[in-house]
Amino acid sequence: MTPEEFRRGAQEHADWIASYFSQVRDHPVASAAEPGSVRAALAPAAPEDGEPIEAIFADFQAKIFPALTLWNHPRFFGYFPSSSPPPAVLAEFLAAAVNVNGMVWKSSPAATELEQTVLGWLRQWLALPESFFGILYDTASTGVLHALAAARQRVAPECRTEGMRADLTVYTSEQAHSSVEKAAITLGFGQNNVRKIPVDAEFRMRTDLLDQTIAADLRNGKRPCAVVATVGTTSLTAIDPLREIAAIANRHGVWLHVDAAYGGSAAILPEMRHILDGIEQAHSLVLNPHKWLYVPSDCSVLYTRDPEALRGAFSLIPEYLRTSEDDRVVNLMDYGFQLGRRFRSLKLWYVLRSFGRRGIMERLREAMRLAQVIKQLVEAEPEFELCAPVTLSLVCFRHRGGNAFNEQLLAEINATGKAFLSHTIVGGKYMLRFAVGNFQTTEQDVRETWDLIRKTARLLARSEAAAALHG
Ligand code: PLP
Repeated sequence: MTPEEFRRGAQEHADWIASYFSQVRDHPVASAAEPGSVRAALAPAAPEDGEPIEAIFADFQAKIFPALTLWNHPRFFGYFPSSSPPPAVLAEFLAAAVNVNGMVWKSSPAATELEQTVLGWLRQWLALPESFFGILYDTASTGVLHALAAARQRVAPECRTEGMRADLTVYTSEQAHSSVEKAAITLGFGQNNVRKIPVDAEFRMRTDLLDQTIAADLRNGKRPCAVVATVGTTSLTAIDPLREIAAIANRHGVWLHVDAAYGGSAAILPEMRHILDGIEQAHSLVLNPHKWLYVPSDCSVLYTRDPEALRGAFSLIPEYLRTSEDDRVVNLMDYGFQLGRRFRSLKLWYVLRSFGRRGIMERLREAMRLAQVIKQLVEAEPEFELCAPVTLSLVCFRHRGGNAFNEQLLAEINATGKAFLSHTIVGGKYMLRFAVGNFQTTEQDVRETWDLIRKTARLLARSEAAAALHG
């Protein structure tokens, strides 16, 4: 591309993105694509000669975009929403242009120092102790893997040279995210050494059972290594009691990792800071700006008060990566298994600066308020029931018609393209998850989606009744 062609292409792409933001509600949230349809529409082999950007962009619009489920849509209420507001899009554009690799300080000084600065800002917003060292990874799954590796380094440093030990155990609640178990599998703890502690009536880890399980393991010659607590569980946003868990973990000399991938953002609000009460006694904390901090995927921060354990687990410096500044700088490659690091801090910096603390707090509060609106709408409808306390911006509910009915209801809502929800099953009950977190979601989005849910449920109940009559 010549510079002139680039300018033209950039303008056309920017125009398309600007229209996407302003007309996003005209597009279906979930794609109706059939499996294999996208591949069938694409060339089976890469072109021999380069093609003009106009042709590629036209294919994006005609063949790719219609088969996308639009996570960056104000009526995307499934899983945990992930927002990409305009300032973050600009930052990603710039990051791609400069394409730096922040593996060591020297390889791009500003990449390392911006990351440390911006994670310092976020640490202040969250009122975390200054001693917490922050680092960005791609996902919370990577974060928990690093936390467990650091925990192992602390409890069983011999593993680094001699390999994994079968007596090391990990504790988490039965409502924890699957990434905890996956990290344990990856590191070689083994699934049988992951203890899933039952939860109380509000789906929080039972601390009495945690204590008993650790004590029993110690009696049986096991080496308890790490506890993973969750602030905002994936299915129902339960908040584990950190302070009590920390007391148990510290009494037994066990690392405490806190998975606040989604819920942690709410702690920026002074009135919600209590969800991290006791965090200063934890060893590590993961929070995903790419979930509820209006930063696009991927962007996940791990804070730890024991960066030396992390470094002890991962630092390995070949000659070709040594630099003359090594004794004066932080080389982020020392704090993880990956060498190459993309420039994630830029988009976090753009978002924190362009929204400001006030702007972020307004959006967090609004998302939580909208969740309360949904909760009241559910409670006002006798055919529906609430399935869990609404602790943050997620509402879990179900129709009283039973599991198969709710499954069908979800499929029909999502097939309209007007909104997108997801589901979970807890205690054998199939339930719908309505999570608010996109930067453009309004009360009208939420109310119209609730109307859609109610109407779809009524039609479904009527057609089921008619089928029963005739069948
Ligand atoms: N932890 C919690 C509580 C989550 O809800 C999720 C994903 O939804 C994860 C961890 C994993 O996040 P990631 O996709 O960043 O690995």
